[in-house]
Amino acid sequence: MNQSSTRSTALFTNDRYPKPRYIMSDCPIHPNLFTWPAENPSLLGGLCEHCGEVSFPVQSSCRSCSGSGSSVIELGDRGVLWTWTVQNFLPKPPYVTDQTPATFKPYGVGYIEMPAGVRVESRLLTADADKLKIGMPMQLVIEPFSANDRGGHNLCFAFDIVEND
Ligand SMILES: [Zn+2]
Repeated sequence: MNQSSTRSTALFTNDRYPKPRYIMSDCPIHPNLFTWPAENPSLLGGLCEHCGEVSFPVQSSCRSCSGSGSSVIELGDRGVLWTWTVQNFLPKPPYVTDQTPATFKPYGVGYIEMPAGVRVESRLLTADADKLKIGMPMQLVIEPFSANDRGGHNLCFAFDIVEND
Protein backbone atom coordinates (compact mmCIF):
# COMPACT_ATOMS: atom_id res chain seq x y z
CA MET A 1 0.00 0.00 0.00
CA ASN A 2 1.18 3.43 -0.86
CA GLN A 3 0.57 5.74 2.00
CA SER A 4 0.34 9.32 1.03
CA SER A 5 3.41 11.19 2.11
CA THR A 6 1.78 14.47 1.28
CA ARG A 7 1.45 16.73 4.22
CA SER A 8 0.90 20.36 4.56
CA THR A 9 3.96 22.32 5.54
CA ALA A 10 1.70 24.49 7.63
CA LEU A 11 -0.45 23.35 10.49
CA PHE A 12 -2.65 26.39 10.54
CA THR A 13 -6.03 25.81 12.03
CA ASN A 14 -8.02 28.83 11.04
CA ASP A 15 -10.45 28.97 8.15
CA ARG A 16 -7.91 30.28 5.68
CA TYR A 17 -5.92 27.09 5.75
CA PRO A 18 -6.63 23.37 5.73
CA LYS A 19 -7.26 21.61 9.02
CA PRO A 20 -4.05 20.48 10.69
CA ARG A 21 -2.32 17.40 9.41
CA TYR A 22 0.27 16.17 11.75
CA ILE A 23 2.34 13.09 12.32
CA MET A 24 2.96 11.51 15.68
CA SER A 25 6.54 12.76 15.72
CA ASP A 26 5.31 16.35 15.63
CA CYS A 27 5.04 17.53 19.20
CA PRO A 28 4.75 20.75 21.16
CA ILE A 29 8.05 22.44 21.91
CA HIS A 30 7.03 22.59 25.59
CA PRO A 31 4.36 20.66 27.51
CA ASN A 32 1.30 22.53 28.77
CA LEU A 33 1.42 25.22 26.07
CA PHE A 34 -1.65 24.11 24.11
CA THR A 35 -3.92 21.09 23.81
CA TRP A 36 -2.35 18.57 21.42
CA PRO A 37 -3.14 16.59 19.42
CA ALA A 38 -6.40 18.43 18.87
CA GLU A 39 -8.45 19.43 15.87
CA ASN A 40 -9.11 22.82 17.42
CA PRO A 41 -6.21 23.41 19.79
CA SER A 42 -6.65 25.64 22.81
CA LEU A 43 -3.94 27.57 24.58
CA LEU A 44 -3.30 26.33 28.13
CA GLY A 45 -2.74 28.42 31.22
CA GLY A 46 -2.47 27.97 34.95
CA LEU A 47 -5.21 28.82 37.43
CA CYS A 48 -4.02 29.48 40.97
CA GLU A 49 -6.15 27.50 43.43
CA HIS A 50 -5.48 30.06 46.17
CA CYS A 51 -6.17 33.45 44.57
CA GLY A 52 -7.61 32.65 41.14
CA GLU A 53 -4.78 34.33 39.22
CA VAL A 54 -4.52 33.05 35.64
CA SER A 55 -1.00 32.69 34.22
CA PHE A 56 0.61 31.91 30.90
CA PRO A 57 2.60 29.82 30.59
CA VAL A 58 1.62 27.47 33.41
CA GLN A 59 3.72 28.37 36.47
CA SER A 60 4.79 26.11 39.32
CA SER A 61 4.08 28.88 41.81
CA CYS A 62 1.73 31.85 41.58
CA ARG A 63 3.29 35.20 40.76
CA SER A 64 0.51 36.96 42.62
CA CYS A 65 0.30 35.07 45.94
CA SER A 66 3.29 32.64 45.75
CA GLY A 67 0.85 29.76 46.28
CA SER A 68 2.01 26.46 44.81
CA GLY A 69 -1.28 24.80 43.90
CA SER A 70 -2.42 25.51 40.36
CA SER A 71 -4.47 23.65 37.81
CA VAL A 72 -4.11 23.70 34.03
CA ILE A 73 -7.03 25.37 32.24
CA GLU A 74 -7.89 26.01 28.60
CA LEU A 75 -7.54 29.66 27.64
CA GLY A 76 -9.29 29.19 24.30
CA ASP A 77 -8.13 29.91 20.76
CA ARG A 78 -9.19 33.53 20.35
CA GLY A 79 -7.94 36.72 21.91
CA VAL A 80 -7.54 40.42 21.23
CA LEU A 81 -4.35 42.14 20.08
CA TRP A 82 -3.18 44.21 23.04
CA THR A 83 0.06 45.56 21.58
CA TRP A 84 2.51 44.51 18.89
CA THR A 85 5.75 45.21 17.04
CA VAL A 86 7.54 43.80 13.99
CA GLN A 87 10.78 41.84 14.40
CA ASN A 88 12.93 42.91 11.47
CA PHE A 89 16.12 40.98 12.21
CA LEU A 90 17.07 37.46 13.31
CA PRO A 91 16.91 37.34 17.11
CA LYS A 92 20.10 36.42 18.93
CA PRO A 93 20.46 33.08 20.76
CA PRO A 94 18.88 31.49 22.78
CA TYR A 95 16.18 32.04 20.14
CA VAL A 96 15.82 28.59 18.54
CA THR A 97 15.25 28.56 14.81
CA ASP A 98 16.23 26.82 11.58
CA GLN A 99 16.54 30.22 9.95
CA THR A 100 19.73 32.05 9.09
CA PRO A 101 20.19 35.77 8.44
CA ALA A 102 19.86 34.89 4.73
CA THR A 103 16.52 33.07 5.11
CA PHE A 104 15.07 35.25 7.85
CA LYS A 105 11.71 36.84 7.18
CA PRO A 106 10.36 39.60 9.41
CA TYR A 107 7.49 38.61 11.67
CA GLY A 108 5.17 40.27 14.09
CA VAL A 109 5.37 39.92 17.85
CA GLY A 110 2.46 40.84 20.03
CA TYR A 111 0.62 40.44 23.27
CA ILE A 112 -2.75 38.76 22.91
CA GLU A 113 -5.24 39.34 25.69
CA MET A 114 -7.19 36.14 26.25
CA PRO A 115 -10.79 36.09 27.56
CA ALA A 116 -9.50 35.07 31.02
CA GLY A 117 -7.60 38.38 31.12
CA VAL A 118 -4.07 37.01 30.83
CA ARG A 119 -1.81 38.53 28.17
CA VAL A 120 0.19 36.09 26.08
CA GLU A 121 3.36 37.07 24.22
CA SER A 122 3.23 35.45 20.80
CA ARG A 123 4.66 35.42 17.34
CA LEU A 124 2.21 36.84 14.81
CA LEU A 125 1.93 35.44 11.29
CA THR A 126 1.61 38.95 9.91
CA ALA A 127 4.56 41.30 9.67
CA ASP A 128 2.53 43.92 7.81
CA ALA A 129 2.21 46.96 10.06
CA ASP A 130 -0.73 48.22 7.98
CA LYS A 131 -2.79 45.14 8.90
CA LEU A 132 -2.14 45.02 12.64
CA LYS A 133 -4.45 47.08 14.83
CA ILE A 134 -4.65 47.15 18.59
CA GLY A 135 -7.92 45.60 19.74
CA MET A 136 -8.41 43.37 16.71
CA PRO A 137 -9.45 39.72 17.20
CA MET A 138 -6.67 37.16 16.81
CA GLN A 139 -6.81 33.41 16.19
CA LEU A 140 -4.49 30.78 17.67
CA VAL A 141 -2.55 28.78 15.10
CA ILE A 142 -0.13 25.90 15.64
CA GLU A 143 2.88 25.77 13.35
CA PRO A 144 6.06 23.77 12.87
CA PHE A 145 8.86 25.70 14.49
CA SER A 146 11.98 23.60 14.04
CA ALA A 147 12.92 20.01 13.18
CA ASN A 148 13.00 17.58 16.08
CA ASP A 149 15.17 14.49 16.46
CA ARG A 150 12.32 12.08 15.67
CA GLY A 151 11.84 13.14 12.05
CA GLY A 152 9.02 15.51 12.88
CA HIS A 153 8.68 19.05 14.01
CA ASN A 154 8.62 20.93 17.24
CA LEU A 155 5.31 22.75 17.25
CA CYS A 156 4.82 26.19 18.61
CA PHE A 157 1.84 28.47 18.80
CA ALA A 158 1.36 31.77 17.02
CA PHE A 159 -1.55 34.08 16.39
CA ASP A 160 -3.00 35.27 13.11
CA ILE A 161 -5.45 37.96 12.09
CA VAL A 162 -9.07 36.79 11.94
CA GLU A 163 -10.32 37.57 8.47
CA ASN A 164 -13.99 38.18 7.68
CA ASP A 165 -14.95 38.30 11.31
ZN1 LIG B 1 -2.28 32.88 43.58
